[in-house]
Amino acid sequence: MSNASLTARWQSALMDNYGAPRLALTRGEGARLWDADGKEYLDFVGGIAVNSLGTGHPAVVRAVSEQVARLGHVSNLFIAEPPVALAERLLALAGRPGRVYFSNSGAESVEAAFKIGRLTGRPHMVATQGGFHGRTMGALALTGQPAKQRGFGPLPGDVTHVPYGDAEALRAAVTTDTALVVIEPIQGENGVVVPPEGYLAAVREITRATGTLLVLDEVQTGIGRTGHWFAGQAQGVEPDIVTLAKGLAGGLPIGATLAFGPAADLLTPGGHGSTFGGNPVSCAAALAVLDTIESEDLLQRVKDAGERLRDGIWQLGHPLVDQVRGAGLLLGIVLTGPLAPQVQQAAQNAGILVNAVAPDVLRLAPPLIIGDAEVDAFLTALPGVLDTVDTSAGAR
Ligand code: PMP
Repeated sequence: MSNASLTARWQSALMDNYGAPRLALTRGEGARLWDADGKEYLDFVGGIAVNSLGTGHPAVVRAVSEQVARLGHVSNLFIAEPPVALAERLLALAGRPGRVYFSNSGAESVEAAFKIGRLTGRPHMVATQGGFHGRTMGALALTGQPAKQRGFGPLPGDVTHVPYGDAEALRAAVTTDTALVVIEPIQGENGVVVPPEGYLAAVREITRATGTLLVLDEVQTGIGRTGHWFAGQAQGVEPDIVTLAKGLAGGLPIGATLAFGPAADLLTPGGHGSTFGGNPVSCAAALAVLDTIESEDLLQRVKDAGERLRDGIWQLGHPLVDQVRGAGLLLGIVLTGPLAPQVQQAAQNAGILVNAVAPDVLRLAPPLIIGDAEVDAFLTALPGVLDTVDTSAGAR
């Protein structure tokens, strides 16, 4: 097997919804990955902010192996210990009483929030331009990226998209007919866009005044990614609903919708559900991730490594780097033009995986366990990678 042969088989057997894969990967260890040609990479993609403990962390391997051997799936006709323990644990981390709905992906965690919103009886919803919430129909209606919606209409209606980071525009859009407002604490897929300070708190105040549910989509920012359990909580903002997925189960499929206050009781039996949601194996993996974040003090590690990485990139003073933004280990390197795909390829050639999330932005989302030596290896390689870029392709 090689990169080329596996990619050729991909092409004839799988639907081409993401475009051709960059590489065929065969194995990993911590923050390192190997491709089908045997080449080693430093993993600064982290499965798009999913592999929070890297690849093959012993705690995840043990939890998954034990759980799949003991009780792999029970269906929602029964309950098992892992989903109950995980729900209790997530609510304890949120620091408020509430209830959890488990599913299998980020989109599904948002879809559940969308349906809870409908159950308020209010018709209208507000989301943000450039926001990304997933590709099922409700989540897609909330997604503020027309290119992702094209061809899939009609979408569930009555969603207003307001400019991200503009509290006054949001205030003008939200009325007592608005069921929910959904916001990402940082717009990950839109290029790691950070809103002005105080934005989330202002949105909380606006939604409270109209009795509108505030949904924080923490699919990308939650569970340690920004150096906090929840990015909203770090700003003192208490949403009615939090959506989680990505890093929660360290690579196993999971979605979680946490609801607090009256929103916690809107779903009733028979109304919404999923066969796989709350799967014991995914929940056991998630419990292992949460335990490890605590036992290895990874929130602090994320803050330290994030600062080292961010400051280090900025201090390179490279002429193609316009800005470094984000929080913790969710960082965007903003380039001086639409050069990100070129830099992504050059980095890959140099043995480093990064993600060109926007034409001019590279997203870094390495495992939360990343070591200083790995950060430094990235920083050492980056200038050489940037130097190979042909800026005639359109620097600003
Ligand atoms: N919400 C946010 C904020 C996301 O970043 C993503 C995935 N990039 C989703 C929802 C959708 O998650 P999934 O791809 O697991 O459906």
